[in-house]
Amino acid sequence: MPRLVMKFGGTSVADVQRIRNVAAHVKREIDAGAEVAVVVSAMAGVTNELVGWCKEAGSQFDTAEYDAVVASGELVTAGLLALVLKDIGLKARSWQGWQIPLLTDDVHGSARIAAIDGTRLIQGFKAGEVAVIAGFQGVHKATNRVTTLGRGGSDTSAVALAAAISADRCDIYTDVDGVYTSDPRIVPKARRLDKVSFEEMLEMASLGAKVLQVRSVEVAMVNKVRLHVRSSFDDPARPRLGTLICDEEEIMEQEVVTGIAFSRDEAQITLREVADKPGVAAAIFMPLAEANINVDMIIQVVSDDTTTTDITFTVPAAEYDRAMAILEERRAKIGYAKLHGAQDVVKISAIGVGMRSHSGVAARAFRALAEKGVNIRAITTSEIKFSMLIDEPYTELAVRTLHALYGLDAKA
Ligand code: ADP
Ligand code: ASP
Ligand code: MG
Repeated sequence: MPRLVMKFGGTSVADVQRIRNVAAHVKREIDAGAEVAVVVSAMAGVTNELVGWCKEAGSQFDTAEYDAVVASGELVTAGLLALVLKDIGLKARSWQGWQIPLLTDDVHGSARIAAIDGTRLIQGFKAGEVAVIAGFQGVHKATNRVTTLGRGGSDTSAVALAAAISADRCDIYTDVDGVYTSDPRIVPKARRLDKVSFEEMLEMASLGAKVLQVRSVEVAMVNKVRLHVRSSFDDPARPRLGTLICDEEEIMEQEVVTGIAFSRDEAQITLREVADKPGVAAAIFMPLAEANINVDMIIQVVSDDTTTTDITFTVPAAEYDRAMAILEERRAKIGYAKLHGAQDVVKISAIGVGMRSHSGVAARAFRALAEKGVNIRAITTSEIKFSMLIDEPYTELAVRTLHALYGLDAKA
């Protein structure tokens, strides 16, 4: 008997009617003889609202209580889907994270899964029961407190569950019919990919393609979970498999660039006229590291007078204020003339395993953007991707330009 994990995101469970549509997808698999665990997200917009209330509730940001609040969205959808499944004649029950249990560490707000006991879910399958699981949440064993897995974390719940119950497949149902060469909302000519490698998907997700949470791809890669991204908006009677995330070897034709991603979650900081001597970079970046602020792109400008230099780097937009405060506080210690920041920036990235064997891929992008008058503020490259920081108003122009440049546009 095949065993499946089916995950449905926020727009796919946005109201009871959409939940009925989910139930039709589940029924199709049950009728075909599968054992099914369904993982659900909160209804569209609910998690954002819960996060907003937490912020409003107090300056004392207690992450354990934050988790207690934001985990509640998924409880509602799990219960509702179980009700609807029963309504159409199937056996079903809802599961909250702690009931499974799905154990995590205690890093509230972005906990990592430590262990999942699939025994009870499997017992349920034997009794013909669909397991409806609240995604995004778990419990920390020692403190017995509810945790959440970070935004988009239901993807990771689903993939980790698939590994824990040795599922034959994990299907991520969402509002697009697969992984595209770029976000179809920004690039109308984006093409759906039949297959994409784990490595490329990891880069695309970390560089802004939020179709899958980064950790879900990691967990799938390590545990060899067969992972599909597909649409819940397809007719339940005529399902399509969407995009398979798989090993590189499974992909026959490989373009040099597979996808273009972008992230608005960046902010730029520049320190002007910093002393050009050993120890200065450490004086800047150590305090940021100690405050758990992730620095991404770094450029140091070589100055003419050789006594001072400028250093520019990026931090996550959410950490911008904290980073600026730390640097201001250490002004005397670091010794710089001016501190500048910019929040209206975006990081555009091109990803492709083909870059390993082709040179000059990034250089073509620099030229194409220059021709469109887009100024590049910072650049980073690694084996299978390169990223450029540009001004936010140019996002669409830059993403579409690169998409066309690397031959990714769908044929008209
Ligand atoms: P869900 O609520 O189902 O988890 P998300 O909103 O988290 O859905 O992810 C789906 C969205 O990801 C799509 O609507 C799309 O706009 C966006 N997206 C960004 N990059 C891509 C990409 N390369 N391919 C497909 N979708 C993408
Ligand atoms: N509801 C959570 C979020 O919006 C988790 C998820 O949907 O994956 O981030
Ligand atoms: Mg999501």
